[in-house]
Amino acid sequence: MYKTRVDREATMERIAFYGKGGIGKSTIATSSSLLLAQQGLQVLHVGCDPKHDSSLVLVKDPSGFKTVVDQIIHGADELDPEDLIMEGIHGIHCVESGGPQAGRGCGGRAVSRSFEIFEEVELVDSDVYDMVVYDVLGDVVCGGFAAPMRKSARSKVVIVLSEEMMAAYAANRIAAAITQFQRNGIVLAGLAVNLKNNRADLTPIARFAKALNTQVLGVIPRDPLVCEAELYRQCIVDYEPESPVAQSIRAIVNKVLAIDRTTCPVPTPLLDSKVREIMRGFELDTGVG
Ligand code: ADP
Ligand code: MG
Repeated sequence: MYKTRVDREATMERIAFYGKGGIGKSTIATSSSLLLAQQGLQVLHVGCDPKHDSSLVLVKDPSGFKTVVDQIIHGADELDPEDLIMEGIHGIHCVESGGPQAGRGCGGRAVSRSFEIFEEVELVDSDVYDMVVYDVLGDVVCGGFAAPMRKSARSKVVIVLSEEMMAAYAANRIAAAITQFQRNGIVLAGLAVNLKNNRADLTPIARFAKALNTQVLGVIPRDPLVCEAELYRQCIVDYEPESPVAQSIRAIVNKVLAIDRTTCPVPTPLLDSKVREIMRGFELDTGVG
């Protein structure tokens, strides 16, 4: 039986990784795209960070690296999806929004304009893709950076954080943005913990997840192999598939896939002082702000 367009739209999944800068979003997002492609799914990987370094490990030919902003700057008036897509390994299609030159222009504007172009060229086509993975700059400080949330309806969001307080701070802000964009069907699937220190106490993070009305999807250890893989322009899940980091990322991706988005609870963002208190490890309000 042929699938109708509505069925296809319903079966196309969107997973979006958010989190503070340097927390490991691109590491986890690129590995996720690769794992999904290895399962035989047609994947579109969308890097939405003006630093445009997300798909570097996925593209077949880095010398042909291009961004949506490049296309705009070069004045292309009629764009097709092919003008934006870079061919990646395992048949992955990679797109990078790009950004202004360092110190010039507005990164948020670049990201939001890129999303407008994605719509204009009908990039995210459910006839073509089974899976769209978004790698999104975490600090939702302006409307531009919120474009991925506005324009990636029905995404399952995974917030990447570590045991560090500032990572929880950013996660809390992202959770607040999710509550704003609920009407788009954006849901919070949970938190992916990418440890800075493998001996960190996980209790405060578990408590933070509970207070945020969400779950911890998995814990990824710190491992120099991740940087080593990067040096060879490889994802850790390809470079060392049986390493603890690769296994954790695989488990997280499978968990996210298995989640029924209609069952994800709406997050309950906290006051900043509460985040600090929880991450300090205190269970009760001590009155110290
Ligand atoms: P983001 O996309 O959030 O800015 P990246 O994925 O680029 O962050 O990661 C930042 C740096 O941290 C990279 O150099 C990456 O290799 C390293 N890194 C990420 N996760 C791990 C990990 N689990 N163990 C060791 N290094 C890691
Ligand atoms: Mg990144």
